This record gives sequence, C-alpha cells and structure tokens, in this order.
Amino acid sequence: MEYKIGLLRGDGIGPEIVDSAVRVLQKIGEKFSHKFVFTPYLIGGAAIDEVGEPLPKETVEGCLASDSVLLGAVGGPKWDTLPGHLRPEKALLGIREAMGLFTNLRPAKLYPALKAECPLREDLVEKGFDIMIVRELTGGIYFGERGYREGKYGEEAYDTERYSRMEIERIARVAFETAKKRNKKLVSIDKANVLETSRLWRKIVHEIAAEYPDVAVSDMLVDNAAMQLVRNPAQFDVIVTSNMFGDILSDEASQITGSIGMLPSASLGEGTRGLYEPIHGSAPDIAGQGKANPIATILSAAMMLLYAFDLSAESEAIVSAVDQVLNEGYRTADIARGGEWLSTKEMTDKIIERI
Ligand code: NAD
Repeated sequence: MEYKIGLLRGDGIGPEIVDSAVRVLQKIGEKFSHKFVFTPYLIGGAAIDEVGEPLPKETVEGCLASDSVLLGAVGGPKWDTLPGHLRPEKALLGIREAMGLFTNLRPAKLYPALKAECPLREDLVEKGFDIMIVRELTGGIYFGERGYREGKYGEEAYDTERYSRMEIERIARVAFETAKKRNKKLVSIDKANVLETSRLWRKIVHEIAAEYPDVAVSDMLVDNAAMQLVRNPAQFDVIVTSNMFGDILSDEASQITGSIGMLPSASLGEGTRGLYEPIHGSAPDIAGQGKANPIATILSAAMMLLYAFDLSAESEAIVSAVDQVLNEGYRTADIARGGEWLSTKEMTDKIIERI
C-alpha cells in the first residue's frame, strides 16, 4: 500500500522530531512493505519567514489532499510580538478547522521504567497506567454564544455551553470504537448533576452504548474524575468527555506521567484521516541542540498507523520498540535525571534498531 503523509515540521525542535518520526516510518515501510510518501508543507513561524503568513493556502490544500498529516510544533520568541492573526499558533486552529477535526485523542501513559518521573506516590502507580482521553474538540463552551452585557450588578460577561445530538453521537462513536481497540472499558465524564448539556450527553452516550455491547461504559462526574486521576489513575482505560472538561483533564493526566516529551496525540475528523502531533510545544530553549526527546512524535506516528491506516501490527512494532529502549535504560536528556543521555538522533537510532 502507498500512503501520502503531509509533514508540518514547524519551528523550534519541530524539524528534528518530525525527521526522527519519518525515519521510523521509513523503517516500518521497509519491514512491512508499505510505501510512505512524505510531502513537507510550511506552517507557523517557518511559514511566516518564508511567505509572510502562518498557514499558507498551499499547506491547507496539501494537508487536505494527504492521507494523513504529521505535525511537529509551532511558535517561538522570534514571532511572539507579531499581531494575533499573524502568530504561528494561529495556524494550529486554522489547520484543525480546515480539516474538520472534532476529536482529540490524548493518551497519558506512565511507563513502569519511568515511574520515578511521576509526581504521585510510588504505591499509587506501582504498575504504571495507560489512559486514552477522547476529547470533543469543536463544540461546547469554547464555541458557544458569548459576550458582554449589562446585568443586575453592572458589567458582566457570559459564555454558553451548547451541544447538539449530532456532536455527542459522533464523539461517543469515536470513543466506543477506541475502547473496542483497547480494553473495552469506557468512562464518560460529565457534570450531569448540574448541567443540561451533560444530561443530554449522558443520555446519548448510553443510547450509543447499545451499538457496542462488548464495551463496558460507566459515568463519572468531572469533579470526582479530577480526584480519581490522582488517586488511582490505573482504574481508567478510555475516557470520553466534552471540550472544556477534556482540556483540563488531559493536562492533569499528562502531568502525572511526568514527561511531556513522551506524549503523542491525534486529532480526527470525518472523512479525513487526521492530524498527529506531540502534545508539547516547539521547545525553543533546546532547539538545534540534539536534546529533544523524539518519542512523543514517534508515538504520534504510531497512532497514525493505527487510527489513520488501520495498521495495528506496524503501530505495535513502534510502541514495543519504545518500551524496549526505555526498559533497557536508554534516556534522552529530559528523562535522564542528570544521568547519561542520548541525543535525538541516537534515541531514534535505538528505536529503529528494535523495530
Ligand atoms: P514547550 O512544550 O515547548 O516546552 C516546555 C518545556 O518542556 C521546555 O523546557 C522544553 O524544553 C521542554 N520540552 C518540550 N518538549 C520537549 C521534548 N520533546 N524533549 C525534551 N524537552 C521538551 O512549551 P512552551 O515553552 O510553553 O512553548 C514554547 C513554544 O511552543 C511557544 O511559542 C508556544 O506557543 C508553542 N507551543 C506550540 C504548541 C504546538 O505547536 N502544538 C503547543 C504548545 C506550545
């Protein structure tokens, strides 16, 4: 099979980590006889420098014509003083919107080999944890009606949480499909004791559950979920939740893994195979020094193989190569705790050797 992959290298460490993931995908291509065709497009500060805008038309068209897209990161101090519409970060919202990406998949995995990175007490994370958060990305309070008005006590502002049946159904289906590919356990997080949108959310999640009898689904209130994540993170497998709750809980979950350079993500839409990117930014403080951990981007490529192309054995080959290098004690600077560490390229080589 031939797969067309759009590459958005971006700024800072973006080019280094995307190139690492490309080398890993090339190795997968050789081993499993697939052809990956990579086409780079400009985005972020690099695009501003080259053509004067963060998201050129050619980039949007190229991404829409690709089978899938791999993104590094954008932004950096060089472009921080530009007006809002010309900032590199503007390109992220633009490309997500253009590709119609309504789902954000964010795994938070604590590798047993990296237990010491976790800020939680050791007995709470004895066996590590592996959570997948499915966050709705284009609805809810971030996109609802908002404004300023004169209220009972003078000037006031308001934002509105709004969800339609269609939006809840489609995110619920993604969550059940995701749970089916994992341990078949889904927790839907809402605030149904207070919010009407949450009551509709809960009702529809349970309607969709009837289509997935092999997945066990339960509900949890968001305040409880925030506590449970730090009390017993291993109880979760797949979580589905709204835009704002997902924004907050996915950051909480990533923090308890303790290593931002390890966490991938995927944004998915309908009729598109999605955009895959590490959760971290462009890390301008270490750009060009060979200190970037490439694993988050390499694991983003593994998510692409699984979710965009349905290549589960190929995806698993990457995940298990990463597990192996960590178990063998290889570290990049961010997870080395002052000990010996490998450069971005050396870590990538170690992973490729184990595929
Ligand atoms: P950051 O994630 O870039 O960096 C935070 C800290 O984590 C830094 O100390 C950095 O060195 C370290 N770090 C991040 N990724 C790492 C990796 N792979 N390996 C080793 N260390 C890593 O966040 P920031 O410093 O707040 O932002 C820097 C720039 O990135 C800003 O311009 C910001 O707007 C942008 N940003 C972009 C995205 C994106 O493109 N999706 C996301 C967040 C921030």
